[in-house]
Amino acid sequence: MQVPAQVEYEQAASVEHALDLLARSGPEARILAGGHSLIPMMKLRLAQPETLIDINGLSELAFLEVTGDELRIGALTRHAGLLAAAGAGEHFPILHDAERVIADPVVREWGTIGGSLCQADPSEDLSAVFAALRATMVIRHPAGIRTVPAREFFTGPYETVVAPGEILTEIRVAIRPGGGSSYQKVGRRVGDWPVGAAGAALWLDGDVISGTGIGLTAVGARHFVAAEAEEFLRGRPATEENFGRAGQIAAENCQPVSDQRGPAEYKRHLASELTTRALRAALRRAAPRRAGGQRRPGDG
Ligand SMILES: Cc1cc2nc3c(=O)[nH]c(=O)nc-3n(C[C@H](O)[C@H](O)[C@H](O)COP(=O)(O)OP(=O)(O)OC[C@H]3O[C@@H](n4cnc5c(N)ncnc54)[C@H](O)[C@@H]3O)c2cc1C
Repeated sequence: MQVPAQVEYEQAASVEHALDLLARSGPEARILAGGHSLIPMMKLRLAQPETLIDINGLSELAFLEVTGDELRIGALTRHAGLLAAAGAGEHFPILHDAERVIADPVVREWGTIGGSLCQADPSEDLSAVFAALRATMVIRHPAGIRTVPAREFFTGPYETVVAPGEILTEIRVAIRPGGGSSYQKVGRRVGDWPVGAAGAALWLDGDVISGTGIGLTAVGARHFVAAEAEEFLRGRPATEENFGRAGQIAAENCQPVSDQRGPAEYKRHLASELTTRALRAALRRAAPRRAGGQRRPGDG
């Protein structure tokens, strides 16, 4: 049985206290959220922190609310909490699409949104979701807060802009009219990590695409935003033909690798097909609101 190396354990009583503990413990200290990634990595000795700073008691980080024209998600919100939040799914169905297919109920009950993002696994689902939604990450440090676009949050596989001594505290998503969103994932079995997945958000002005966000996951060693496909769509009509072309552009620009989940060419095919499907579903969800009508059954 694999056992982690010996480690100091501290329980934070507030975000300020956690920051203070991080500062006093040095660069080898790590935040402990749900522990679903960190503890297995410690057992395998892939991570050997000297100190764990447990933030599970910090109710100030476990919130989910609409404030003005923003959805705010505290970093300690559990996957299950996000899935259960009707308001989040109403504004951004992509969040519930993704949460329904992340792991299993046990992992979702304990794993956190902040932990998933800070783990920065290139196969992680929420990175693509928040890139598509053009969300903003809020990071606390001893001198205050800084905000970073979700698209600039990941600096490489398992790396983010969160520096030693900092904590991700929340994710903010702007609520804009005329929008629709969707997440499409293919896994080998229920609850598994994706073979490939794509998230898309669309904002419409009549039938013309005024803004879009497309994020893909598991299509390369780095987190991938389909910027050229987004650029292609902006200002064009929301048609099946344009969605298909955007999918092709996304597939041409990503860099999937063959691994135990599938060959690179299959993943490239998924990048195209799932991007197109996500755009199509995002349009279905945006259209009834544009027309001021009711959403149709199955629109999600
Ligand atoms: C069996 C299994 C299947 C899974 N399947 C999927 C899947 O299909 N799709 C998917 O997307 N994910 C999947 N996951 C990951 C899961 O979603 C967890 O949420 C994820 O492992 C990390 O969340 P956590 O809260 O457990 O973080 P932890 O393990 O506690 O922390 C992870 C890392 O983030 C750091 N950290 C945590 N919170 C903060 C913070 N607020 N500020 C700064 N640093 C922080 C920690 O120091 C650590 O380095 C799976 C996990 C398991 C165990």
